[in-house]
Amino acid sequence: MGGVALDTLLPPRCLSCSTIVPSQGTLCGECFRGVTLIGSPLCHRCGVPFLHGGQGVPSGEGAELHCPRCALRSPEYGQARAAYLYDAGSRRLVLPLKYGDRTELAGPIARQMAHAGRELLERADFLVPVPLHRRRLLARRYNQAALLAWKLSRLSGVPCAPDLLRRRRATQPLNKMGAAERAAVLEGAFRLAPGAVAKLQARHVLLVDDVLTSGATVTACARLLLGAGAARVDVLAAARVPDPSLADGADLPSFRNALDHDATADDV
Ligand SMILES: [Zn+2]
Ligand SMILES: [Zn+2]
Repeated sequence: MGGVALDTLLPPRCLSCSTIVPSQGTLCGECFRGVTLIGSPLCHRCGVPFLHGGQGVPSGEGAELHCPRCALRSPEYGQARAAYLYDAGSRRLVLPLKYGDRTELAGPIARQMAHAGRELLERADFLVPVPLHRRRLLARRYNQAALLAWKLSRLSGVPCAPDLLRRRRATQPLNKMGAAERAAVLEGAFRLAPGAVAKLQARHVLLVDDVLTSGATVTACARLLLGAGAARVDVLAAARVPDPSLADGADLPSFRNALDHDATADDV
């Protein structure tokens, strides 16, 4: 009823560009064509999309396709999935949610995440958003990962445990750092809430974040949760940066742009 009443007063607008659209909470045709939904073929573990199945290496019991990076060294989390490729199109949805107070974007983004991560949601005991440091939370007033986790919880029925992980300190943007440097910066950046250990025993946790870049942040969280007794930690993000080694030549500049323009990715 509320939606119907609102539609008559204010025509529904595209979530990204504000063009008038037929119904609330949707993208116009042009913006919809501008976002790239991630589907198969993709890496069974980290979820990075392949241009074609030939880029995957069959590994493990089921001979699932793994990207070269995961075939070489399995990630500490179980599986990661994301709704969108992190590019110019999805940045127009994800960045306004992160910095622009556009909290109404969380619902439609979470619906796409629920679709991309349906298998992960099915086995999750609870959802844990990647936390923001308290100082950033005060400045920004909300944690975009927690908003997404709450929406996902409502869509899936999986409970949300928003305070289970805490951020001990604010970290610098990780995007200009190498892997070893990121890991060093993140060492000790997170801690568990009191009582978390009892809650985690033998449980399946689904970590929720907005943008997955190198995976360093979610790896640090997964290590802490697994060390405290969780049986499995999966990751569900709104968007993920592609692996440049899997791109064809033409895609490399867009990958560089994704990292350069984004002071945020992985984590601020
Ligand atoms: Zn639009
Ligand atoms: Zn992979």
